[in-house]
Amino acid sequence: SKAKLFDEKTDVKTTFKDVAGLEGAKEEVQEIVDFLKNPEKYTNLGGKIPKGALLVGPPGTGKTLLAKAVAGEAKVPFFSLSGSDFVEMFVGVGASRVRDLFKQAKEKSPAIIFIDEIDAIGRARGKNAMSGSNDERENTLNQLLTEMDGFGTKTNVIVLAATNRADVLDKALMRAGRFDRQIHVDLPNLTERKAIFEVHLKPLKKAEGLDVSFLSKQTPGFSGADIANLCNEAALIAARKDKKAVEKQDFLDAVDRIVGGLEKRSNLFS
Ligand code: ATP
Repeated sequence: SKAKLFDEKTDVKTTFKDVAGLEGAKEEVQEIVDFLKNPEKYTNLGGKIPKGALLVGPPGTGKTLLAKAVAGEAKVPFFSLSGSDFVEMFVGVGASRVRDLFKQAKEKSPAIIFIDEIDAIGRARGKNAMSGSNDERENTLNQLLTEMDGFGTKTNVIVLAATNRADVLDKALMRAGRFDRQIHVDLPNLTERKAIFEVHLKPLKKAEGLDVSFLSKQTPGFSGADIANLCNEAALIAARKDKKAVEKQDFLDAVDRIVGGLEKRSNLFS
């Protein structure tokens, strides 16, 4: 299949309200929103606006959501692509796509570029010499670094990249003037899970007296994506039973189903 070039969204509706928990991460990216909205405030005093930040954390914790919310809050276009689209690419293709992406983002600046799974292109060099696509991966990475190094003080494009493996990344990526900030996006604690439930329960027709704290206690280890999935499963289970509202038991049945799935997932790796 032909991997798509990249995705561009101009009228992003996602805001910080859609991102539950993650207060520390939101505070850190708030600064990026301000850089995008008021660059002169910083450059007038001789400051250099950061070019990139890494969002680091386990799958499904809201890294993509947070990056999108930065674009939504700053009201700037959101360009996104996934590092995994660059593996097994013909020579020259990866680098030329990166070039195109930055060209378009710069034309529409201020803008956010979001690179999901940056580790797929940004792995430390020479660590997977067995893989045939290694050369093009390296070209792609070099092109990315070249583009970021080439940003002028007036470029006003900020690159956010997500990974759950910051430890495998090439140190060149983290050098000053590149992805020199790390923002941690961790699994939610009890209180944060409750906040995430509030977001994802909103569209559901809930039974009266449904106890959100109880649901949060039943879901240790769940990510935001797991909770979103759980709420949807519960609604489907209730509908299948022709219920008029989603009840506690439907959530418990959905928990069983999802925990079953999670166990299967981890058995695959053990
Ligand atoms: P991956 O590493 O797998 O790409 P991610 O960290 O980018 O995951 P997202 O794609 O942002 O995670 O999350 C998937 C979905 O899970 C979101 O679209 C949202 O519905 C829900 N979700 C995740 N985290 C949160 C959160 N903190 N608040 C509200 N919803 C969340």
